[in-house]
Amino acid sequence: MEAARIDEVVRSYVDLKNRGVNLLGLCPFHKEKTPSFTVSPSKNIYKCFGCAKAGDPTRFIMEIEQLTFPEAIRVLAKRYNIQLEETQDTDESRAESLQLEGLNIINQWASEFYQDQLWNTDEGKSIGLSYFKERGFLEATIRKFQIGYAPQNPKALAEAAAKQQYSKELIQKLGLVNSFGSDFFRERVIFPIHHQSGKVIGFAGRIMNSDSKLAKYINSPESEVYKKNRTLFGLHLAKNTIRKNNRCLLVEGYTDVMSLHQAGIDNVVASSGTSLTEEQASMLSRHTENVTILYDGDAAGIKAALRGIDIILKEGLNVQIALIPDGDDPDSYLRKVGSEKFEAFLNSQSKDFILFKMQLLKEEVKNDPIAKATAINDILNSISKINDPIKRSLYIQHTSDFLKVDEATLIQSTNKLIREDLRQKGFREKRESLQRDETISREQEEVISFTKEVQSTISSGDEMQEREILRILILAGHIPWNNTEITTAQFVLENIQDIQEYFENNFYLGILQEAYSHISSGKKLGPEYFLQHENSKICELAIDLSTTPFTYSPNWETKHGIFMINNYTDQEYQSYEIERIIKQLKYRKIQKLIIQLDNQINSIEDYNEKIELLKVREEYKKMKNTLYLEVWN
Ligand SMILES: [Zn+2]
Repeated sequence: MEAARIDEVVRSYVDLKNRGVNLLGLCPFHKEKTPSFTVSPSKNIYKCFGCAKAGDPTRFIMEIEQLTFPEAIRVLAKRYNIQLEETQDTDESRAESLQLEGLNIINQWASEFYQDQLWNTDEGKSIGLSYFKERGFLEATIRKFQIGYAPQNPKALAEAAAKQQYSKELIQKLGLVNSFGSDFFRERVIFPIHHQSGKVIGFAGRIMNSDSKLAKYINSPESEVYKKNRTLFGLHLAKNTIRKNNRCLLVEGYTDVMSLHQAGIDNVVASSGTSLTEEQASMLSRHTENVTILYDGDAAGIKAALRGIDIILKEGLNVQIALIPDGDDPDSYLRKVGSEKFEAFLNSQSKDFILFKMQLLKEEVKNDPIAKATAINDILNSISKINDPIKRSLYIQHTSDFLKVDEATLIQSTNKLIREDLRQKGFREKRESLQRDETISREQEEVISFTKEVQSTISSGDEMQEREILRILILAGHIPWNNTEITTAQFVLENIQDIQEYFENNFYLGILQEAYSHISSGKKLGPEYFLQHENSKICELAIDLSTTPFTYSPNWETKHGIFMINNYTDQEYQSYEIERIIKQLKYRKIQKLIIQLDNQINSIEDYNEKIELLKVREEYKKMKNTLYLEVWN
């Protein structure tokens, strides 16, 4: 691929300006106002100093067109008229790629066949084309989406394909013809479904005979080239505008996508009837982090659809909802009000998804306490799917205000849901992870057996460490921190904010969070707060921690990396000791995060995702090393 010049390849997507020996432009992979996307013609590579994406011409095509390596090579070869060298494929892999090639060729041919039927036959014109024209579609739009028509004749496509001598087996694989030799799509208008690179991979057909009892829409069956949950209708036409506007509109119907395009709104895709899958959400997240979902507003439909949205939140996307008024769908509403008012509607009426959901549930709940509890749980479920802790806490705050529920309780419940999620996700990986890091698992086992002897409620080194934090809080929380104006409790609680969600002991975590909201509201936090707590379990723990100093063998710390304060009274707490305990707990948590991340990295196949995670891992390792030096030196 030496013939492919990086500057030429990039120029067909990005405006490049000369900057010394290099070229500079706005990065097509992330949103930016000042260009940091650099192309070096002499090295034949690109690099973005904003998002760190970098590579050669092939990688650029892979990234921007979302193609596999061989696909990208083929695109470049075609563009530069390069004869591809026959690679040393095995017979098997060559047969496989020949078959894929065959499937693609047949799909492309079938798409042209259906289009020909629509435009050039009496039946196609009177039934198919007139249907679209009656609905207000211009010829240009119909052509842009390569709309076609499948005639009534049950063998129309089968016979045409036979004339072309296409393999019957492959045609059946694509589901275009059934095993009896009849066409799958009959008397239907045809919407071809494209891969985001633009090639046809399948079809959807809408029935034209309104008396028929057959399904209104049918889709090609899944095949080697068509995976329903990895396809978004219209993405091949929308992706550049999605990136440019940094927003994607999501609608339900194929004709909604077409209408919006006709009105000049290009950044729109359809999930093809089904609610959005994880794969689809992840595909979108490569183009933008902002998604606006357009719903036609009947309440039952909305509620069902809202459930699917948690999946989008998980991919780190910001979701907004726009409800189409008056029982219209996007298509009919757009035609009613025109494109200018439609855009104004989108700008003014899009609401943040969680806030929208909250409002919807609040109206429903009224004064029913059980319904309220269910509603809160529902919202917390959505919030727990959000990866960004800052966003999460803002939503929790809002939920607390809006539904009049104690914030600390909400935080606690959300953390529980997150942990439950992680547990389910980690269940499969758990065995591997234990095998992967034998030292850790052995350590945990030893800790477990040790603590069983000492304290039946403690089950791991982390929990012992967490318990130490509580001990500090109870005994020294009220003492000024290091001669400053803040208290030790404030210092400790502020400093463990970022590891709270990784706490192993829910009970301890609950106490810490409650203590935090206590001091946040300006109240004092002394030993009596715990010792006279209305929850008897907290009372008992406080008594336990303030009367029985932990004794441990001297090698416990060196062997297991657990640091505890051995002999103390409340006056003797040294600030360096407290700092050390906090840092050490952080060290343990990071160590675990790295192991978790390693499992994730191993299970991911996508090269870019792997790189992203490896970068995160690098950060974690740096933090871990810094903490190590601070704790043990
Ligand atoms: Zn970039």
